[in-house]
Amino acid sequence: MRDVVIIGSGCAGNTAAIYTARANLKPLVIAGHEAGGQLSLTTLVENFPGFPEGINGPDLVENMKKQAEHFGAEFQHGSVVDADLSQRPFRLNIEGEWMETRTVIVATGASARWLGLESEQKLIGHGVSSCATCDGFFYRGRKIIVVGGGDSAMEEANFLSRFGSEVTVIHRREEFRASKIMLERVHNNPKVKFLLNTVVEEIFDVSEKLVTGVRLRNVKTGEIRTQDVDGFFLAIGHVPNTRVFKGQIATDPDGYILSQGGARTSVPGVFHAGDVQDRTYRQAITASAAGCMAAIEVERFLEAEGH
Ligand SMILES: Cc1cc2nc3c(=O)[nH]c(=O)nc-3n(C[C@H](O)[C@H](O)[C@H](O)COP(=O)(O)OP(=O)(O)OC[C@H]3O[C@@H](n4cnc5c(N)ncnc54)[C@H](O)[C@@H]3O)c2cc1C
Repeated sequence: MRDVVIIGSGCAGNTAAIYTARANLKPLVIAGHEAGGQLSLTTLVENFPGFPEGINGPDLVENMKKQAEHFGAEFQHGSVVDADLSQRPFRLNIEGEWMETRTVIVATGASARWLGLESEQKLIGHGVSSCATCDGFFYRGRKIIVVGGGDSAMEEANFLSRFGSEVTVIHRREEFRASKIMLERVHNNPKVKFLLNTVVEEIFDVSEKLVTGVRLRNVKTGEIRTQDVDGFFLAIGHVPNTRVFKGQIATDPDGYILSQGGARTSVPGVFHAGDVQDRTYRQAITASAAGCMAAIEVERFLEAEGH
């Protein structure tokens, strides 16, 4: 029987592991299919406090992991494939093996939706990004593409126009999901132009490990064209990784955990941390802070229960 199992090994899970390990709770972290979480997909991180020269994303999460292990946290490969949170102790199934725990921290993140092109996957962190706040600064005076037609695409296009020489919004339809006010703001922005009814067929150049251009297709006319670009930003949504808890923890219609205040979920003893609950900020520092909050709540919960 564990005192605490942390599901997910991104910034939120690893920070929760540091705090719970230092509280002597011997946490077990289930790493998941993406050990290190989303930061393991990126290169330079320049906005995590404490690193004046920046730090590589994979190094940052690896350091957090080492720090947690230093205080006794254990890490296990594999994913939670099933869970029974209906009674305590909670039961978690890790790739076929059930285990019991008094508390759970869900730090499973929210995965960005990608187009699914092979070139796109190979160029993530090398010009392809799903986070304008994180990577916009790298594209000062450069050409930028934003893919999407919702509010977040409009927000990212506006934000990126502060840096880029030009921003092209590519949207596969003519109608937008974005609100009128957001659309208007972008339409009035002289740096932003739109390419509608257009899909991205290929991103160049995998051999150079750098984004240099795209091949686009107009879905109405069939016209194919190429366009030079330096930064390629996806803004077509995120999917919170809560499928295994479906029906057991309260979520919003998109699957994000609904917080009951602090780090509490609708199930006493199960806490949330990071992007799995946060559809607004989605940053390493906010995810780490949420991991800290969840860990402190776990300590207090266990203490109140006499453990
Ligand atoms: C390309 C890119 C660049 C970024 N750059 C920056 C930046 O410069 N600065 C910044 O502050 N933020 C940046 N971010 C955002 C930042 O990475 C996220 O906000 C942060 O990683 C969220 O941390 P998290 O721990 O909540 O979730 P994640 O990092 O998404 O981690 C989730 C973890 O849960 C695990 N998991 C999922 N399902 C299961 C399961 N069923 N069982 C077990 N484990 C599971 C995964 O394997 C993973 O380890 C970037 C994101 C991307 C995609």
